[in-house]
Amino acid sequence: MKQSHYTVVGAGVAGLTVAHQLAEQGHRVTVLERDTFVGGLARTWHYDAFHFDVGPHRFHTDNPRVERFIRDILGPHVIEIRRSSGVRMFDRFHEWPLRPSVFRAMPIRLMVAGVRDLVRRERLPGESFEADVLNKYGRTLYEIFFRPYTKKFLGYDPAELHRDWARAGVNRAVIDKRASADSLVSLIRTTLLPKPVDTTFLYTADGVGRFSDTLTERIRGRGSSVLTGRRVTGLDAAGERITAVIAEGERIETDGVIWTGPITEAASLLGAGQVDLEFLSTVFYNLELSLPLNVNYQWTYFGGDEVFSRITAPTAFAPTMAPPDAAGLTVEVTCREGDERWQNPSGPVDAIVRDLVRTRVIDSERQIRQLHVEPVRNTYPIYKLNYPAELARTLRHLGRYRNLLLAGRCGRFWYNNMDHSIGQGLTMAEQVLRGRQLADVDEGERAYWEDDAPAASGVESR
Ligand SMILES: Cc1cc2nc3c(=O)[nH]c(=O)nc-3n(C[C@H](O)[C@H](O)[C@H](O)COP(=O)(O)OP(=O)(O)OC[C@H]3O[C@@H](n4cnc5c(N)ncnc54)[C@H](O)[C@@H]3O)c2cc1C
Repeated sequence: MKQSHYTVVGAGVAGLTVAHQLAEQGHRVTVLERDTFVGGLARTWHYDAFHFDVGPHRFHTDNPRVERFIRDILGPHVIEIRRSSGVRMFDRFHEWPLRPSVFRAMPIRLMVAGVRDLVRRERLPGESFEADVLNKYGRTLYEIFFRPYTKKFLGYDPAELHRDWARAGVNRAVIDKRASADSLVSLIRTTLLPKPVDTTFLYTADGVGRFSDTLTERIRGRGSSVLTGRRVTGLDAAGERITAVIAEGERIETDGVIWTGPITEAASLLGAGQVDLEFLSTVFYNLELSLPLNVNYQWTYFGGDEVFSRITAPTAFAPTMAPPDAAGLTVEVTCREGDERWQNPSGPVDAIVRDLVRTRVIDSERQIRQLHVEPVRNTYPIYKLNYPAELARTLRHLGRYRNLLLAGRCGRFWYNNMDHSIGQGLTMAEQVLRGRQLADVDEGERAYWEDDAPAASGVESR
């Protein structure tokens, strides 16, 4: 039987997982990646002996099949580590999920207001993120944390966002079912748990990028191609089928396309007109530091007036992420592709350094040996109020192509995690191998959301 030639657009974990499974079964696959490296959002930057992921990145899943796959790919390099994350509130660092000590740091007037929120519940109608958070956690927590953090992080007021932002970003597990925090009452209960939530996840000694690097080697080992520096800029279609993909001037004939780049780009190449789906981008400031690093949570959220929204300490994931006499630190500042910050990413450096010293993350600017400024596009889909209708319309338009499959975080406009993209990739490949047409292999994201819902808990923006 003639095996098909599939083209996978994007070498993130979703695209590489599908490509790997198809290549293993003898299909010819060509993966086209616009960047000069693989991994997408799950890449690792290596600067000599310093290694930095794209902010905090850890493998965690409740799905045994996905876990087996991750362990199989990482092989002897897999390590298990304990989670430790923090948040800066009331001018101090606290464990996240919160511990009872946070109440000692809390101003009395806020405690009184919090107690009032417990008694007088808000009942805001509507589909907005604002309504969701206010109704669940009350006005005090909303005003002191959720609102400023969301505005700083996304540049939108919670009233302009859809409540799915809470389902994905806030409700997603603190990765422990005990740490439920889907209401003010359960948040307080979790905070008062006698023992802190203790969870582990999978990692490697030199960053999560190893997963994509290994998949790439294996795909190539099967005679298929993973081509970097190949941005797809055209899709040729005849009737209901895509016949060829255009990348860097080259025309590649194909039997089917698995698209994991932004859905907005696929829509534009296939004439869907203007699509109002917006992605956030992020500038990552990777600092090589002399010791000491005073905050050793793996990652820490900042909801105050600092320029950044989160910092990550790679050596708190694995000491091998930096030389023994040094530490790494990643600082995240969000933006939009093309905006002023994107065009001049070095602009906020002075303010970042000032805030790191002011909040005592580091003692002094002199500790910074090197700074690498790394802008990354399309880090988060932004769930504005109109997104469900806009996404449905776009999926309908693209659904008319029988040999096109949309997958992954950007391809599905899906605020997800690596394990979701990997799980989706495994399921999609399985169905393709059973002979289903690509357009019928619509293993969308909703099923995963249902899985997530019961594990609702604290603020997580990954
Ligand atoms: C800051 C941050 C922290 C995170 N932390 C975690 C975590 O701790 N744990 C976790 O499980 N998940 C985490 N995630 C989520 C995780 O990174 C994603 O779920 C996952 O990497 C998505 O993989 P993907 O393949 O679906 O998409 P992507 O990684 O976005 O891959 C899409 C690929 O397509 C390429 N592409 C786009 N357009 C084109 C084109 N026209 N032609 C060719 N190629 C194109 C892109 O360059 C990219 O490589 C985090 C995400 C972020 C941003």
